[in-house]
Amino acid sequence: MSTLLKDRTIKIKKARRCSWCDEMLHVGEKAQYTVMIYEVDFNADTFHLECYEALCDLPNDEPYDTGSMSRGCLCLKGECRCKPLKEAGKMSAGKKTCKWEQDDEGIWHTDCGNAHVIEADGPEENGMKYCCYCGKILKEAEKPKVEEVG
Ligand SMILES: [Zn+2]
Ligand SMILES: [Zn+2]
Ligand SMILES: [Zn+2]
Repeated sequence: MSTLLKDRTIKIKKARRCSWCDEMLHVGEKAQYTVMIYEVDFNADTFHLECYEALCDLPNDEPYDTGSMSRGCLCLKGECRCKPLKEAGKMSAGKKTCKWEQDDEGIWHTDCGNAHVIEADGPEENGMKYCCYCGKILKEAEKPKVEEVG
């Protein structure tokens, strides 16, 4: 059983480490400050706001090891798979081009997840400047170099 005594957002006055991810909380940064009682022990913790959100997502009072978690999520430190995913999502959302890549069958596969068949030549030769599916600038993928086996 644990009891929450204090739970408020503070502004860091003295740099310290986040109890969740062990990364630094810098002076001036907003953070969540909590004081808990675990049976007889007092526990004062400071978290990054996103780490505190992760903590709140933790199923009822499930224990975690202080400083051993990934920043802003429920994964163990170094085992996080959501961050690369999030960043990859951001990257493709921010891209202005749509890459078209031709497979062995001659079908063009687009970055935006479509497949297109062109009668002859590539999209550029056919005067296609923009992807006809997503409207972004069409970029032909460089043809992979075929390694000669011999
Ligand atoms: Zn943190
Ligand atoms: Zn994660
Ligand atoms: Zn596209």
